[in-house]
Amino acid sequence: MIKIAMICTGTELLKGSTVNTNLAFLGGELTAAGLPPVLEIAVGDDCGELSGALASALRSADAVVVSGGLGPTVDDITLDVAARFFGLELVESPELSLRLEEWWRRGHRGRCPRMQYRQARCPAGARIIPNPEGSAVGYDFETVYGGRSRRIFLLPGPPREFEPMARDYLLPCLAGLNPEDRIFTTGFLAAGIGESAASAAVEPAVREFAVTVAYTAKPEGAVVYLSGSDAATVTAAVAAARRAVGEAALPAGVTGVIPELIARLRTEGATLSTAESCTGGLIAAALTDRPGVSEVYLGGAVTYSNALKTALLGVAPELLREFGAVSSETAAAMAAGAASRFGSTAAVAVTGIAGPGGGSAAKPVGLVYVAAVWRGRSSVRELRLRGSRRAIRERARAQALLLLLELMNAPAGVDEV
Ligand code: AMP
Ligand code: MG
Repeated sequence: MIKIAMICTGTELLKGSTVNTNLAFLGGELTAAGLPPVLEIAVGDDCGELSGALASALRSADAVVVSGGLGPTVDDITLDVAARFFGLELVESPELSLRLEEWWRRGHRGRCPRMQYRQARCPAGARIIPNPEGSAVGYDFETVYGGRSRRIFLLPGPPREFEPMARDYLLPCLAGLNPEDRIFTTGFLAAGIGESAASAAVEPAVREFAVTVAYTAKPEGAVVYLSGSDAATVTAAVAAARRAVGEAALPAGVTGVIPELIARLRTEGATLSTAESCTGGLIAAALTDRPGVSEVYLGGAVTYSNALKTALLGVAPELLREFGAVSSETAAAMAAGAASRFGSTAAVAVTGIAGPGGGSAAKPVGLVYVAAVWRGRSSVRELRLRGSRRAIRERARAQALLLLLELMNAPAGVDEV
């Protein structure tokens, strides 16, 4: 199995001012391709540290992907450090100079400044990785290190450049290096249950399969990942694990409630609207994070005050007076109001006490009601959530969407209200 390491350069990554999305992207893509990386190092823009990172990565890795530091300024040191580290000469390529001049002319309508020609250099013998999105190109070369042949890829840091270059060039390249050797990974969401409950169900069920199991806790439940070198074995183990988890198991490959919900709404030709109080738009934000969701999601209302619950959703003032804003009655009325006022087939609503203040003995912090409406049927659930304000809001968001999914999957006539 080819061992792949990634080095992400940039002092901003260590300071935390830039989130390392290149790692998240490449880690996900490589894992999906059956080539999970073995090591990742984030390193600042420092020659000594970057050389050290290369040496560390090459202790085990056969292929190293470096992101960042290929720009024209003095803190862009990747090319120089890599050339020195591997003993390669840097030569200015006439082809790259022309490309840069053309790039500069198109973007700036002037002469390419001298400094920019740093990006026309190429390690002797390296292949150029095309970059349609930026002035830097990438580099791909083989080298012998520690008596073994290694493959090195240098790619620019900006994600809008890194991601297409990784997808179009790097991944096919790495996949071609040894096509037989793969680790297949499939995950599924065990909705609404914790990691230990998921593990108690899954572990006995997959014991006789040659797979490894991993869990990730999410607000909507535990994601169960099964990996192995034989695709059919992984598929069979996933089936056994899903049976063991029971109704809480979403389909194989579905690791989040939102993609599943969107897919279900789409096949039903249905639409969704939202009514949020204590989640303040988190549900709307999570839904609209997905490209293409406009096909099914109409929008929603953030109704924090009682007045807006009445004005925008038609929640009766008497109902609010009698049961309070945080009640199953109000949650149900908010969902029904969203579905009727916004004209959607489905709706979800949330009302609750996210804390840290505002709780009482009768209605403590963490008391949340989620409601869902689906084709005229409805369901409300009381939640007693623990944790910080953020944790309570995130779990409420996830549970509201899960409730809708359950209602959609439940046979008609089995309402929970
Ligand atoms: P560079 O190629 O090092 O000049 O990077 C240019 C910009 O890309 C940086 O200022 C960051 O904003 C962004 N960037 C670099 N590396 C990463 C990374 N690993 N994840 C996300 N953004 C990055
Ligand atoms: Mg940088």
